[in-house]
Parts: sequence; C-alpha cells; structure tokens
Amino acid sequence: MKRTLIKHVLASTEYGSTVMVAGWVRTRRDSKGGFSFLEINDGSAFSGLQIIVPGELDNYESDVLRLTIGSAVAVEGELVESPGAGQSVEVHAARVRAFGFADPEEYPLQKKRISFEKLRELAHLRARTNTFGAVARVRNALAYATHKFYQERDFLYLHTPMITSSDAEGAGEMFQVTTLDLAAPPRLDGEVDYSEDFFGKPTYLTVSGQLGAETYALALDRVYTFGPTFRAENSNTRRHLAEFWMIEPEVAFADLADNADLAEDYVRYLFRYILDRCSDDLEFFNKWVDDGLLARLASITDTDFERITYTEAVEVLEKADAEFEYPVNWGADLQSEHERYLTEVAYGKPLIVTDYPADIKAFYMRRNDDGKTVAAMDVLVPSVGEIVGGSQREERHDVLLDSIRAKGLPEEHYWWYLDLRRFGSVPHSGFGLGFGRLVQFATGMQNIRDVIPFPRTPNSAEF
Ligand code: ATP
Ligand code: MN
Repeated sequence: MKRTLIKHVLASTEYGSTVMVAGWVRTRRDSKGGFSFLEINDGSAFSGLQIIVPGELDNYESDVLRLTIGSAVAVEGELVESPGAGQSVEVHAARVRAFGFADPEEYPLQKKRISFEKLRELAHLRARTNTFGAVARVRNALAYATHKFYQERDFLYLHTPMITSSDAEGAGEMFQVTTLDLAAPPRLDGEVDYSEDFFGKPTYLTVSGQLGAETYALALDRVYTFGPTFRAENSNTRRHLAEFWMIEPEVAFADLADNADLAEDYVRYLFRYILDRCSDDLEFFNKWVDDGLLARLASITDTDFERITYTEAVEVLEKADAEFEYPVNWGADLQSEHERYLTEVAYGKPLIVTDYPADIKAFYMRRNDDGKTVAAMDVLVPSVGEIVGGSQREERHDVLLDSIRAKGLPEEHYWWYLDLRRFGSVPHSGFGLGFGRLVQFATGMQNIRDVIPFPRTPNSAEF
C-alpha cells in the first residue's frame, strides 16, 4: 500500500478509508482497556497523528509495547473522525510495523525540554524536535517563495562559483582553498609558490556571488543567485555564521531607489507567503519562542518601510535617550545595537538606510556627488538588525579604478570587472539578503546557529 504523508491525512475527510502512514513516535500511552495511543510525526506537518492500536494485534506485546519516543513505525488502518479535542482525525491501526527502536535509556530526546545550546551538540537528531522541524519547514517555504518571487518577475537564476580568486567585499575575510601540503609547501625565493597550487594561484571560498552576478545582469538584465557564501570573520555573535546562504539579485538599468523598492517588495512578499502557508509552525514559535512574532510579521506585510539616509540615522542616534556600548559619530559603521534602536525604538518598523560613508563600504559602491558617501543601502528589521546590504554599483570606469586603488586592492584581480565598465556599461544595482537572518526574523529564533541544519562557526564544524 502507498504511504500518505501525515499532513494529507490530517486534512482528509475520507472517513472509513484505509491509510498507511509512517514516522517517528512522539508519545505512547497504554490504556487499561488493553490498547495503546501512539502519536507519530513524519515532519510533513507540525502536528502528529494519533493512532489507536488495539491489543489484539499479533505483535502488540512484542513490538507495540516496545515503541518509545523516537522509534520508527509504519501503520496501516482506518481513518476515523476523532472524538477527542485537539485533532480532527485519528487512525485505528489494523497493522503496525516496527522499524528501529530507540532505547529510552540512551536516546537523548525524551519528554523534558533540552536547551538550544545542548541541541547544537545533537544536531544530527535535533530535526526530530518540534522547534527544528518547524524551522526546517519555514526555511524551506522561504526558499521556495524566493524562487517564486524572482521567477514571477522574470529574473534568471544564476549559479556563481564558490571557489574564486577575487575578494568581492575587499575585506579579506576569506577561507583559502588549496591542495598544497601545508606542512611543506613548495617555495620560490622564500615565498609559497602558488603556481604549483591546484589553480596555479591562490584561491578562496567566495564571500559573495555579486561580482559574477553583475556580469550576467549586464547581459541578461535581471538575475539572482541563491547559494552558500563563506566568511572567515571571527564574529561570535548570534547573527553571524562562517558559512551562510545568500540571495543576491542584480538588475541592469536600476538605481538605488529601484533597488530599495525591490528589496522591500521581496521581503514583504516572503512574510506574506509564510503567514499564508506556515501558520501552525508560526503559531508554535509565537507561543514558545517569541510572543511578538506574529504581530511583527503581520505589521511588516502592511507597513511601508521607512527610508532615511545614514546622515539622518546618525542624527537620530546622537539625540537618542539610550546608552550605547559603541559611540555614534558620523563616519563610524552602525553597530547592531544602533541598528536595533533605529528600527525598534526610533521608527518602530523596518528601515532602509542609504548613502553611507564611502570609507566603511565596499569598493564597488557608486560614489555620490558629495564625494563622501556612496549609494549604499541596508535594510534593518526589528530584533535582527541588518538583513539586507546592497548598493547601486559604480558604473564609471575611472571612478571605479580610483576606488579600487584608494582601498589598496590589487587592481590586476579586477581586470574583468573593470572591463564591464569599458564595454556597454550602464547603471545597475543589487543587494544581498542573508538567508539565515531572514529565517531568524521569520521564526523569532534568537540564534542564527539554530536556523541552519549544521552551523559553522569559529571552532565548530562538527557533523
Ligand atoms: P554585518 O555588518 O551584519 O556583519 P555585512 O555588512 O558584513 O553584515 P554584507 O556584506 O552586506 O553584510 O552581506 C549581505 C547580507 O548577508 C547581510 O545583510 C546579512 O544579512 C548577511 N550576512 C553577512 N555576514 C553574515 C554572516 N557572517 N552570517 C550570516 N549572515 C551574514
Ligand atoms: Mn559582516
């Protein structure tokens, strides 16, 4: 018989029909009347399915009474409208097949709550908990909605390389990729001889797909990437990972205002999508993780984002009646505490901050006429802070070359990027949205390590 996912069984009204389901046991209660209740979950829905197992089954004692939390089981039986509160249907088992058991003395995920910190050490099992199942479903819905959003708007999905020889952010926070023997690398005049390395030169894991996306936007008009990026920054914060996924749209003939419109439309589209499709999971997060979550998501879908310049943001922060750990002054980068004050306290809604000082932003951002700022934008949201970073790109060859030199970057690495400004250059813009931060915002989960299956952070790459 063909198996049905529990989410479809829960939505079915075909009472009296026979169904087959399979999953992992969440609870087992044995009744005095000689039968048992099982709740099983297969991850397809937040809720599990209640199964009633009669004691008359051949393997009732040998198997059913050994099913404890975490055991795997398949059940065939009749779909029945449930008399009990809390579920609409249940299954009266005619056959139960036990797969792997889970010794309750050994299996770590028993009834009592385990901290998220502890669960990180059990990353191979944590997907079986309510929280991590819900995170996985919301993450999946946001990924699907991302493709849907861009495909509906005629963007081309682009795969940019993970191994690169150029530093897209110019920040030097890259992991090196090499096949050289680290204990005894080949040397030439005392220096490591990279001509003997796999690619014949030093290479790294990419920090962004943007530069590659620009080459395609300048031919195919609008593209987006959605892939992993890597940063060897030693930020042990609750919103940084060493490996994280980023979505990077890039659009030709688009200026900074167009870029901000796109980011706002996209973010609002995502939250509307999950409010419509993931209500059980979001209600769970609202109840157990962050009681302001649903209100915050709903308010984002129907409020326009505020748009202010960096200079205005600094003025607001200087006047703020708040104690900041880091001082605020024009020219300094906004810290997470400043970003959160602006979006949570000062404006009470998502914020797009534009026109940052050139000195704190990447070389490729378009220089403004004031000579001090660039056409950058960050989208800030409550609780998480920066979720999107983007800009209008410098399309003028000589200005770009000047910025590369001013930042002390090796201009010979960027010859192809400069070429784009020599042939058919046009104004163009794009941004990067950190997928982990998005999932954090969408679920209310405090730590980015708990919204990706296997987090990579300094000193941690287990599994
Ligand atoms: P931050 O100042 O928060 O470190 P950034 O300015 O370095 O961010 P960008 O280079 O603009 O970030 O990257 C684009 C987006 O990628 C950010 O808005 C953020 O959502 C996400 N992001 C950046 N670094 C990380 C990281 N280490 N882990 C997870 N997400 C990140
Ligand atoms: Mn960073």
